Amino acid sequence: TPVIELSNVSKVYVSENVETHALTDINLLIHKGDYVSISGPSGCGKSTLLSLMGLLDDITNGIYKIEGVDTQSLDADTLSELRNLHIGFIFQSFNLIDELSVFDNVALPLIYREKPMSQEEIKTRVNRALSQVEIEHRANHKPNQLSGGQQQRVAIARALVGEPSILLVDEPTGNLDSKNGDAVMAILDSLNQQGTTICMVTHDPRYAGYAKRQVKLLDGTVLQSRDLVSDETREMA
Ligand code: ADP
Ligand code: ADP
Repeated sequence: TPVIELSNVSKVYVSENVETHALTDINLLIHKGDYVSISGPSGCGKSTLLSLMGLLDDITNGIYKIEGVDTQSLDADTLSELRNLHIGFIFQSFNLIDELSVFDNVALPLIYREKPMSQEEIKTRVNRALSQVEIEHRANHKPNQLSGGQQQRVAIARALVGEPSILLVDEPTGNLDSKNGDAVMAILDSLNQQGTTICMVTHDPRYAGYAKRQVKLLDGTVLQSRDLVSDETREMA
């Protein structure tokens, strides 16, 4: 089963009687271990696609399955359960809580789980996630005591701690200088080599090239899907 399966997915926003066709007939399969980049000009639908995949918003038409589960007509509780189970989010702004230590920031997703986890297991999981992004030596720091690159690594650890099926990443280097941006990209690359499935939105062609498959959007449709591993290009337009 694919991790993510979008079949003829469309998204129409309606506000004040104005319809915006943000996405039209999107077909996308993401398998375990994939590293997919989504790129395209501003307004082409990148963020919309990520929020649909992340179960943050409903699709208007089509079928969306995550780990084989059809998400159609599920109630809000079930959707949030699926989200907690399968999705790790990484944003451009790191969205860390300033009052909490690095350790506590990373522990948060585990604390809000349906099924309670023992303190011992939380500790093991958090320390493992921190060491995956090489930031365990900052566990007791507050976010504002860290550089931007370090804060993004903490945010990646928070996304990893629930052992999600897929990391959904939105412009991870947008707030970073090129040195820290490169370091964050290197971490995503090594996570993918260890088996983490990644789907990343970026407008930076250099960073899109880190992915194994590059999907280009234009005006809400897939313009091109290029498999960088086999170097096979499919024109979809
Ligand atoms: P991108 O991330 O590629 O810049 P978006 O997914 O943000 O593109 O937007 C795609 C289209 O949908 C744009 O035309 C945008 O104006 C529109 N759009 C996005 N979010 C909303 C919303 N909440 N309500 C109405 N229109 C929206
Ligand atoms: P990195 O390259 O690992 O992201 P930097 O070289 O930017 O780290 O920072 C070196 C050290 O200075 C870091 O260990 C961090 O704790 C500290 N530091 C960096 N930026 C800030 C900041 N804005 N406020 C407080 N400490 C900072």
